[in-house]
This record gives sequence, C-alpha cells and structure tokens, in this order.
Amino acid sequence: MRTLFDVNPWKIVQNGFDASKEKSAESIFSIGNGSFGQRANFEEQYSGDSLQGSYIGGVYYPDKTKVGWWKNGYPEYFAKVLNSCNWIGINIDINHNTLDLAKCDVSYFYRELDMHTGTLYRKFICSLKDGKEVEVNSYRFCSMHDKSLGVVSYSIKPLNFSGDIEISPYLDFNIRNADSNYDEMFWNPKSRELGQQKSSISAKTKKTNFEVAVAMSYSLLENNQEVKIKSSNIENELYVAKNIKINAKKGSTYTLYKYVSILSNLDGEDELLSLKVNSRVDKAIEEGYDLLLSNHTSSWKSIWKNADIIIEGDIKAQQAIRFNIFHLYQTYTGDNAKLNIGPKGFTGEKYGGATYWDTEAYCLPFFLKTAPKEVSKQLLIYRYNHLSKAINNAEMLGFSQGAALYPMVTMNGEECHNEWEITFEEIHRNGAIAYAIYNYIRHTNDISYLENYGIKVLIAIARFWAQRVNWSDQKNKYVILGVTGPNEYENNINNNWYTNYIAKWCLSYTLEVNNILSKKSGDFLKNKEREKWSEIIDNMYLPKIEGTNIFLQNDGFLDKDLIPVNKLSPDQLPINQNWSWDRILRSVYIKQADVLQGLYFFEDHFNLDTIKENVYYYEPFTVHESSLSPCIHSVLYSLLKDKDKAYEMYLRTARLDLDDYNNEVEEGLHITSMSGSWLAIVEGFAGVRIREEGLHVNPIIPDEWKSYNFNMFYKNENININVNKKKIIITNNGSKEIPLYIKNRLSVLSPNSKEAFIC
Ligand code: BGC
Repeated sequence: MRTLFDVNPWKIVQNGFDASKEKSAESIFSIGNGSFGQRANFEEQYSGDSLQGSYIGGVYYPDKTKVGWWKNGYPEYFAKVLNSCNWIGINIDINHNTLDLAKCDVSYFYRELDMHTGTLYRKFICSLKDGKEVEVNSYRFCSMHDKSLGVVSYSIKPLNFSGDIEISPYLDFNIRNADSNYDEMFWNPKSRELGQQKSSISAKTKKTNFEVAVAMSYSLLENNQEVKIKSSNIENELYVAKNIKINAKKGSTYTLYKYVSILSNLDGEDELLSLKVNSRVDKAIEEGYDLLLSNHTSSWKSIWKNADIIIEGDIKAQQAIRFNIFHLYQTYTGDNAKLNIGPKGFTGEKYGGATYWDTEAYCLPFFLKTAPKEVSKQLLIYRYNHLSKAINNAEMLGFSQGAALYPMVTMNGEECHNEWEITFEEIHRNGAIAYAIYNYIRHTNDISYLENYGIKVLIAIARFWAQRVNWSDQKNKYVILGVTGPNEYENNINNNWYTNYIAKWCLSYTLEVNNILSKKSGDFLKNKEREKWSEIIDNMYLPKIEGTNIFLQNDGFLDKDLIPVNKLSPDQLPINQNWSWDRILRSVYIKQADVLQGLYFFEDHFNLDTIKENVYYYEPFTVHESSLSPCIHSVLYSLLKDKDKAYEMYLRTARLDLDDYNNEVEEGLHITSMSGSWLAIVEGFAGVRIREEGLHVNPIIPDEWKSYNFNMFYKNENININVNKKKIIITNNGSKEIPLYIKNRLSVLSPNSKEAFIC
C-alpha cells in the first residue's frame, strides 16, 4: 500500500516538495477549529496546481437547482459551502521577484502537521530566478482556545544576499469556488478599515446575506527583536493589505506575526462583528504569539486527554487513528448549535459542506464517548431547531398533522438535494435522527433533553412513519413502498428491511419515551394515535429469506444475479467508475451496509447466530464504495470474533485519506467516515456497549497490535480501557460505581479504582 507522507505517531510529515502532490497535501495538512478551517495552502503566492480553500462554518450559497424535468417537491436550491476570505496570505517580493514555489528552485522542503498541538509548520529553502536564496519557516494555527482567532508566524532569511524584501500580509475576499460556477463571485463588499498596524474587511454573501468580518494585525521582528517599520496600505473592494519594505541583511531573520480574527453573523449580531474582530486583533498583538499558541495547545491537550487512542505495536495504525480524531475535532467542537459536520469538513467543497445522516449515524457515537455530553447535545439541538422546517418539508410532500421528514442534505433545515430517488426516497435518515436521540439518552441519561426537545422530534418522526406505511391486503401487513435504503445502488424499491425495521423501531421508541415522560409531564399523544402506532408495530412487514435467518434486503433482491464481488474481475471495480448507472441499479452489489446497518444499530434485538448468518451472506455482495461502509462491517466482524475480517475492514477505513486509497484526496478528506475507524476500535475491537444494566467490554486485539488504550465517557464519568494480549485493565476515573460486564460477567468498579481481567 502506498503511503503519501511519512509515518509518525503524532505527526504528518512531508519531506521534499512535489508539485504533483500539492493538492493532496493541501487536504491532508488542513487545519481548523470547528468554527472555520482551511486547506494547507501556502501563505506566499503559489501559481502551481492548487485548490485554494478557506471555509467558515455554516456559510453557504443556494445554487439554483438545475433539472430538466421538474418534480413537485423538489427543493429550489442546492447549498454549496462558500470559499471565504483568504486570511493566511502574505505576499513576498524579493527585489521585484515574487516568491512562488512553482517558479523557484526548491532545494529543501519540509512540512509537518503536529496533531498533538494542532500546528502546521513548513520550512523551505529556495532560489529565485535571479539566484537569490531564502529560507522560510512558517507556523500557523486556528486557535482552539478562541474560535475566532487564526495566527501565522512567517520568517524569512536571505541566505546569499542583502537587499529589499517586501512583505505584504493581506485579507482577500476576491475568492471563487472550485467545484462549479468558478466564474461567479459570491461575496459583496461591505466595509474596510485601515489602521496603522491593523486592517479589517467585511463582506456579505450574495442571496444568503451571511456577513463575515475579518481583521488582521501584525508585528515584525528582526532577529527576534521587534522593529517598527512604517507600512503602506493597499486596498480594493474586497481586499486589504499592508506593504512593509525591509532593507534585509544577509543571514538575518525577519519574522512577521499575523493575527487574524474571523467572525460571521452565525456567531452574533452583524453590527458588532467588525468591532469585535478589530478589538480581538488589538488584544492578540498585546497577548503575543507565544501566549496565543500556548492557550491553543492546552485546548488541544484537553481534547486529546479524552479522545486519544494509544496503539502499541503498529505505528501506521497509531498515526491513522490520531489523524482521524484530529480532523473530527477540527471540524466540530459543539460550540454553536447552528453548525454541523459536512462530509468534507473544512477541507474541500464536495458535498457542499452540508449535513447528512452521517452525523447521527457515524459521528455522534464518537462525540458521545470522547467529549462531555454538551458537545453531542448541540448536534441534537441542531435537528431540534430544524423541526418546523422538517414538518414543512413533509407537508410539501403531502404529509400532515405534524409529521416531519428531515432533509437528506441540509444547511439550515431546508432540503437542498434534488435527486428524486434520494430526496424523496432515502427516508431512512429520519430513523437515524431518532436513533441519535436514543443513543444520546443511553449514554447520558439526560431525561430533561427528552422532555424539552427530544420527545417533539420523536413524535414528529413517528407521525411521518405512521403516514408513510400502507396496508397491503396481499401481504396482510404494513409495507413501505418506493424507497432507497442506505444502499444507494438500488432505488425505488419496496420494503427495504432496514427502513421498515427502523420505522417500526421509531414508533415503539416514541411510545416508550412517551410512556416514561407521561408520568411526569402528561401524555403527549392521543389514544387513537397510540393505538394506530401499536397496530403498525405489530404488523410491519419484515421480509426474510425463506428457510434462513437472513433478512431480505428488499423485495426482488433474490431475482438478481447473485454473484459475489470476489467473482468479478478486479478491473470492474469500483463499479461506480466502470459500469453504467443502469447496470449498477440492476446488480446485486451493495454500496454500503444496509441490512447490516440495521443489525449494527439494533444488535441487541438479535441473537449472534442471526447476525452471523446475515453478515456472511451480505458482505460478499458489498463493494464498500461508500467510505461509510467498511467500519460497520468491521464492528460486526469483531462482534463475531472474526479477527481477520475485522482488521481487514478496519484498515480500509483507517488510512483511507492518508494513503489516498481512492485517488481523490485532493478533493478533501472524508471527515464523517473518519469516525468509522474510531468505531471499529472502540465498538469493534474493544467491544464496548452501553446497555441499561451497565458497561460491557468484550475485546479482541488485532494480531499486529501489542495493546490499545483509550479514555471514554460512560454516563458522564470518565473511564480508561486498556487491552493487551493478556489482560483487559479498566480504570474508573469517575466518582460513581460502574456496573461493568467483562465478557458478560458482572463486576462492580468503584470510583477511582482499577481492575485487571484476564483476556
Ligand atoms: C453515501 C451516503 C452518505 C453520503 C455523504 C454517499 O456516498 O452513500 O450514505 O450520506 O455519501 O457522506
């Protein structure tokens, strides 16, 4: 397997400059802080092949939906994440030649992303056309301590000359998107302010009127001593810069600290934004680089304290899991309920930065165990805040009485995806949102969430299912027609087992929650509605393959050519690049876990033999052409103690981006599926389950590993799990007793105590 960058437990390291890898490197070395983030573009100008990307959480543009055959119910627009102000930019001009690595002779290049401290470092030595040689060292970070702050330290040293160097830090809203409409501008200028050592600019997005204000201040040092050099201003409508002319001496180092503050009106009122960013950069200059960096690194330290997984014996696996955890936290920190987790996070434009069911099904379990409950709660509140739009969305499709259909793809609660087979049919997403509530409650016992928010979402979702089913006289059962399951390689099918099952479960869970809450808060439901739901629950059609315990993926599945993937010639794979869509739709091949997604969610409803029969039946037909697929299979294989397959599937998720399996990392990282490798370790190898009676741990350890060790939250208490080849050691760092089941045997773990169990 090729490895793009050096292997190191805490760092991603690039030695040597390769222009052909630059776009991939820009994705891999991306940094962010949950509020904004950016690809690892260079500070100085770069005219080589690059995807300039600087994104601000929640800021999008509604691109008009373009379809030839309009269907009632289609959304008006498709949301796209907007490339925003370039805040890292520093132009360097040496004796009237622009420093641009695409046009220089680069004799040394080193880049390092330190995941422990969240800092990006780059050093290079290069000669310009006229033979002038410089050394550059740059550091930057998006502060985790103050989410409005980005900081750059940029040092330049003339190696073989003394002469003029112009340093021009700038803020630039003249930005276009790369994904489409690249000839369109999305930002309208609003204001600019130019001060002595400071400039600021604000702009508004077209149509959506998002306002973003950005300010920068700077200080300049010569050989670590601050120097005051007068700068001049450069500006145009969407651009402000400072131009600093230095009479540079050979061998001296000139360091520019650039402090930037970025806020959008998602963070507060428009009128105050400019004021706030301006005063923030004034303060930043006083605080200075070292203090800002140390605050930032301490914040990362606290994240790692809860979220790290230590793997001994397999450095590639160690690097991979940290890379994935690192990027998940760079994308989402739970500070703002208006934000969510786009499949590419802040690392690219694909998927429009929008929210998918990925959040509830894949990312939430990660945040539930690695962060205090408030972080996950924000993800649930995000959907709660969109409830009325989900009800409108369902109304548009003909549903009534408060039934809600959450969008498949959204920025603000409105559906913005327009393929009918997904928009109208991939309705299982509603189930994942209800499941997320259940998952949150079993992790946190936060009943007040259910009372104040959760119950309303559950009822609206349950109402949708109750109206979406129909009675089949022929089957004498309730059926669900015309859907797309998680397997998007088959559309408009009837009775997708996963969808039918989760619909039935949503109805029962809502009844159960209503029952619990009604004792305190009164009944939320009318008798008639309760009775109707119970009738559906008792009579839902859940097809099986006759004579087996295998759940039938959907009606008609068995009419297909049942040829397993390993019988296909390898040059046919991936089928989504080699086959027509028509051929894919008729084929048996499964894009991602479908029936198995259901068995993963509802493992406790089935016995192990049933799970086994289904896993070994469906996985051979699965092409795993969604990055969300292998992790679920890995968890299930671990449950079945099939170590080899569990590890094989784990590897497919863990280094997907680092090793660029799909040759597409230059477009951005697979952020939502990054939680998959964490799931494969914690729920898979360690076999962690949170059940009503207590915490279950039922581990295996891959042959390649010596041990693995992680902290997690269990009912708001922190515990540590350490598994090696011989022992499982559990430490209760919390203040409450924990009912602990190791391989299903109970032993109560007292607060602040540790116990070892033989594997
Ligand atoms: C998957 C979906 C997923 C989406 C965004 C698609 O390829 O099939 O399940 O929600 O990508 O990650």
